[in-house]
Amino acid sequence: MKVTFSADELAFRDEVRQFFAEAYPADILDKNNRGIPLTRDDMIRSQKALHDKGWAGVNWPVEYGGTGWTPVQKYIFAIEMAEANVPAMVPFGLSMVGPVVYTFGDEAQKERFLPDILASDVWWCQGYSEPGSGSDLASLKTRADLAGDHYIVNGTKTWTTLGQYADWIFILARTNTDVARRQEGISFLLVDMSTPGVSVKPIITIEGDHEVNEVHFENVKVPIGNLVGEEGKGWTYGKVLLQHERANIAGVAESWYRLRKLKEQAGRSVRGAEPLSADRNFMRKLAEVEVELRALEYTELRTLAAVASGKAPGPESSILKIKGTEVQQAIDALYMEAAGYYALPFVQAQYEPDFAGEPVGEGAETQTSLKYFNFRKASIYGGSNEIQKNIISKHVLGL
Ligand SMILES: Cc1cc2nc3c(=O)[nH]c(=O)nc-3n(C[C@H](O)[C@H](O)[C@H](O)COP(=O)(O)OP(=O)(O)OC[C@H]3O[C@@H](n4cnc5c(N)ncnc54)[C@H](O)[C@@H]3O)c2cc1C
Repeated sequence: MKVTFSADELAFRDEVRQFFAEAYPADILDKNNRGIPLTRDDMIRSQKALHDKGWAGVNWPVEYGGTGWTPVQKYIFAIEMAEANVPAMVPFGLSMVGPVVYTFGDEAQKERFLPDILASDVWWCQGYSEPGSGSDLASLKTRADLAGDHYIVNGTKTWTTLGQYADWIFILARTNTDVARRQEGISFLLVDMSTPGVSVKPIITIEGDHEVNEVHFENVKVPIGNLVGEEGKGWTYGKVLLQHERANIAGVAESWYRLRKLKEQAGRSVRGAEPLSADRNFMRKLAEVEVELRALEYTELRTLAAVASGKAPGPESSILKIKGTEVQQAIDALYMEAAGYYALPFVQAQYEPDFAGEPVGEGAETQTSLKYFNFRKASIYGGSNEIQKNIISKHVLGL
């Protein structure tokens, strides 16, 4: 497959490159380069910088304030963003609920929610999974019972990423139990997190981070106007969203960036020792990952070409999800191997602004173990990789 860019596309690439080099907040890049965790405010500032430039709604149609970019421009943008080490956008508003609202919402919802999502003025989180309902999501038990002009929501959502920062949550809830298929009784609701009865409980993951939460709903009153689309159609809307989510999880551009950095690191001699690039076994493993990543990149380009001709990502996005996350985790493992003992100590306090002690390890390498453990999630979230294989066998291979 031959990939070449037109003169216009190259000019666009230069514009994006220049923006990240000159106009994007340098302090956020500096933090990201040094592996310092970003705060809620950093993430919002990052997205607002893109919004000010008109680049927040990468996939959104122009009529709702999106870029209207071609798939190739989006591809170039993703590469340049990764190469500049710009933090990924928080997906819940811009990539998840935004597209659901502009595709299936009514005019009042579009007017009310889309501008704030685009400007990152409102932080969203995703309320799909429940204790006992992850892979088998259609078994979810959270109920939304109609009472006059409100739904009364009761139930628990779990693994809610960055829910501690969120102003709003979009949920799948059961509005009808008297249906032939479980999926038919599920609706898509938008819930203000400040409504009485909503509470958020942290879940601390293996690397010691607070990234996910449990969100409880106890007799939460949700206006009927916050139902998106038709009652009972939430499963269909949720599935569209998941296909977009999966296609985005592949993270090809970020993996190229990380692999290139790893190669540079492997070529350096640390304290007079032989560089890691002299270790043929390590370099063989690195080459294997590179081959996988190149193959994934071309699969993604084929998907882009299909999207360019007007198709939705479809079940093929499951392939991107599996291979993308396998490559990410293989790169994490190589970083662990490369950093050796320096990967071990992760001292959260040294990334705090007022840290007065001696930093442990060599710069961003101390983030290696944090990233390694954190990214065990990649083969689980967005629907586990085993479930993606089921989807491929049924909907792609037709088995
Ligand atoms: C860090 C993290 C962040 C997340 N963020 C969010 C979020 O913001 N919002 C949200 O709604 N959800 C979120 N999730 C939830 C995620 O989507 C679920 O964890 C995932 O769908 C798996 O569900 P489960 O954890 O209940 O595992 P289970 O469904 O209990 O699965 C356990 C194991 O069994 C396997 N398995 C289950 N069924 C089958 C089958 N039929 N065939 C083959 N293998 C099977 C699975 O692959 C898995 O290995 C997040 C998860 C993680 C880890």
